[in-house]
This record gives sequence, C-alpha cells and structure tokens, in this order.
Amino acid sequence: MKTVWEAAAARARSDPEATAIRGERDVSYGELIRRAGTLADQIQAAAAPGRFVVLEATTPLAAVTGILAAARSRCPFMPVSTDSPEARRAAMLADAEPALILREAEPGRLTVEQLAGQPTRPQRPDMASVAYVMYTSGSTGQPKGVVVEHEALCARLDALSRFPGFGAGESFLAMTAFSFDPSLVELLLPLSTGGSFVAAPPEARLDPVIFAQVVREYQPSVIQATPSFYRLALACGWEGAGGARLWSGGEVLTPSLTRSLLPICGQLWNLYGPTEATIWASAARITTAGSVHLGEPVPGLGLCLEGDDGELVTPAQPLRPGEILVYGENLARGYLHRPDLTARQFRACRTPEGVLPCYRTGDRAQYGPDGTLRFLGRRDGQIKLRGHRIELAEIETVLEEHPAVREAVAVVVGTEEPDTAHIVAWLVAEHEVTPREIKGWLSTRLPASMRPARISIVPALPRTVTGKVDRVRIANGARISSK
Ligand code: AMP
Repeated sequence: MKTVWEAAAARARSDPEATAIRGERDVSYGELIRRAGTLADQIQAAAAPGRFVVLEATTPLAAVTGILAAARSRCPFMPVSTDSPEARRAAMLADAEPALILREAEPGRLTVEQLAGQPTRPQRPDMASVAYVMYTSGSTGQPKGVVVEHEALCARLDALSRFPGFGAGESFLAMTAFSFDPSLVELLLPLSTGGSFVAAPPEARLDPVIFAQVVREYQPSVIQATPSFYRLALACGWEGAGGARLWSGGEVLTPSLTRSLLPICGQLWNLYGPTEATIWASAARITTAGSVHLGEPVPGLGLCLEGDDGELVTPAQPLRPGEILVYGENLARGYLHRPDLTARQFRACRTPEGVLPCYRTGDRAQYGPDGTLRFLGRRDGQIKLRGHRIELAEIETVLEEHPAVREAVAVVVGTEEPDTAHIVAWLVAEHEVTPREIKGWLSTRLPASMRPARISIVPALPRTVTGKVDRVRIANGARISSK
C-alpha cells in the first residue's frame, strides 16, 4: 500500500539535500524523513497499526512530521486544534478512542503521550489502511469523523499535481489550519512531487500583514486560501502575489473578489470539494469575473447534478438546479461509527457513466448557458462562515442541551456582505436565564467560529402556517433589531 511516507522517503533517498520546507530554517528531505522516522519508531512502540493518533500541531513542520510518522506507523491521524473547546475535543476523542497524542512541546518538535484506558469498541484491522479522520460539523450536535484511506489521499494528490497542476521545483504556501483538509494539499502535494512548501508562522492565518510579508519574502508558486481570507488580506492592503497562482476554495468565490484578485496574481483557480470527496473534487481556472464556475472534476472523479425529480440534469438543460453528486474513485470511506449516515450520504446513484458509488454533497448547482457548472448554495442548514463549515443544527442542539433552554434556532444574517455575516440565535427559555450565561456555556462547548454573535431570548418562536419554525422571519427580525 502506497502512503505519503513512501513518496517523501523515495525523494529523500534520491536527493537527501533537496529542500522540503522553506522558512526561518530550511529543512531538507533527508532531515524531514529522519525526524519522521524517529517519531514513527516511538508511535510504533506505543500503538498498534490501525489505532488513531491525535495530532495537535501548530507549526507546519510539526504537522508534516506527525502526518508522515503516522503514515509510516499505519496509524490514522486525527488533527485536533489546540484551541478546540474541551467538550468538542472530548466528543472526538470518545468517538475515535485514540491511543496517543502527538503534542508540539516546542516549535517543530512533537512528543508522544500515551492515552489512558482501553478502547471500548472492538478494534478494526481495516483501520490500518486509513490515513486520517477529519471531524466536521454534524447536525446531531456531535462532530462527525470523515474517514479517508491512504490510497484515496495519494490518488488525490497525484490528481491535483496534474490538475490544476503542481510540479517539482515549485513551492506551496503552507498556512491553512491542520483541522481543515486543504492543509494536506499544502504540506503533502509538494512532498509527493519533489517540490517544497513555505512554512508560514501560525500567526499568518489571522494576521494578513504577516501573510503578506511571508509571500513577499518567499514568493511561493501557489497560495491557497478561502475567499474570506483573501478578502481580509485585501482589506488590510495586501497588494498581491506577483506571478503566483492563487487557489481559492472552501467557499463561494464571488465576482467582486474575482475582480480584485485577477490583476494581482499569475492565475486564479476556484477549487471545490467537501471533505467527504477527499479534499478537492473540481477546479476551474477563472479568467473573468463574469464567469465564476466550478470547472472540471479532478482526474479520477466525476461531478453530476441530480434534479429534484431524481433525474440527471444535463448541460443541455441550463439553469435547471440540482444536487451535486461526486462519483468515482477515492471518495472518503464514510463517517466513523456512523453506518446509517454513511449509507445515506455515500451510495450508488445514477451518473452519466452508469450507476456508481457517489457522495451526495447537499450542494446545489446548475449549468450556465455556456455549459459551465455554477454553485447555487446548500440545500440544508449547513453554512460556510469565514471558511468554516457549520451545521446550524449543531449549534441548536448544543443550545438545547442547556437546562434552561426549551427551544433554540440559529440563523445567519448579514450575508449580503461576507465581512458582516454572523450567526444569531433565538431561544425560548424554560426558566430565567440571560444571554450572557448562555454565551458562557457555549464558549466551553463550541469553537469560536460556531458561537452566535447575538442571542435573543423570546417568549415563542415565530412559526409558518405549516407549523415550522419561520427561519426567514427570525433572520429578518434579527436584521431589523441589529440596525
Ligand atoms: P468542507 O468539507 O469543510 O471542505 O466544506 C465543504 C463545503 O464547502 C462544500 O460542500 C460546499 O458547500 C462548500 N465549498 C467548498 N468549496 C467551494 C467553492 N469553491 N464554492 C462554493 N462552495 C464551496
């Protein structure tokens, strides 16, 4: 079985002095593989293949060392952010029952810490072929773990090296948070093609001034970020990246952002894909603000649209909306310990190439008159806010776990301008409680990106004639009260 370890180790054997990581201190392929090999020995001494290891890294050097070592040990890694709220972290750990935590004790160096307790579930030998599990927001109030195999990860990296393309001798900026799967492209695509990555300091993610300095100093060939981040960087005076290729993904690339980015980069690409389809599923080179589309599937995958009547929508039916299905090789294996949800979301469906295994994305799209695929939005309560994938139902479930809350609804308002978009929650209380108390409670249970900016306690939630909670009226009410 091929893993990312083998690809990087092969390069280290053929050219050990070649630079793998650029940054404050350059790291060669030889040194990186030595570090990862030593860490793998420690992992193997403490965990059997197939047991999960938590990766709690803050720097790209530590993250990639942990990922390579985990791959060599056949232990799937699960990235957990150091600022993840305790309850969420506990839910992920209880789900995956990891054997070890790799902690970044000092920058770039991971220590191995054994976790107490024996797993309560029988161990599955097939987990040894899994590269990682990434947790995404889940509507039941519990994050759900997306399980991706080594084969899928390696195949996706190979596909991306061909389209949109990345070659030996090029460098990729590594800046994305490690709990978000595009970070794997930044760290591993260079290592599997013989290129290098630029290790941005973790502060660059939040501070566009540092980001701009890193870009100026190292001039990476490719920069990848969410539209929210590019918007923030532009607002802070970022003047662009010269000839660099910008990959924008994870959220809608708007025409106005496109207009701002096109003149200040070499190429602009729109990357689309859910974690369940293994990082990115499609890519489009965008050359005019008037035509932002999803482009073509990456090699090995297909994208099609299923109309509301269950029939396939073809490019010959412009403007007819449908749900995006991603099909083909190397989708995620499914959700960890969630067979029902896995069976619902990953199943054989009709595609233009016959009945094939698909991932049903829940995203809506349509073909434009020019035959390109245009993103329309979500069909459920899942939203993207500043690059974070959020199930509003998860926020509602956690709110309703508060003993004083009888009913809760979360909505997003201010979406006309990406910078002003925020979450608002309306609650009906069982007994006396203040928004402040509820906010305090949420801060220990949800990451900052998922916490409502405002909480209103109301006597009753507005309902539609059919008795459903009237989310539109809540969103309008929230908008009026914020003026
Ligand atoms: P995640 O699993 O966190 O990567 O989130 C996946 C979801 O983000 C997709 O199902 C889409 O709803 C959204 N998304 C990702 N890339 C794009 C894009 N280029 N344009 C619009 N939405 C996107």
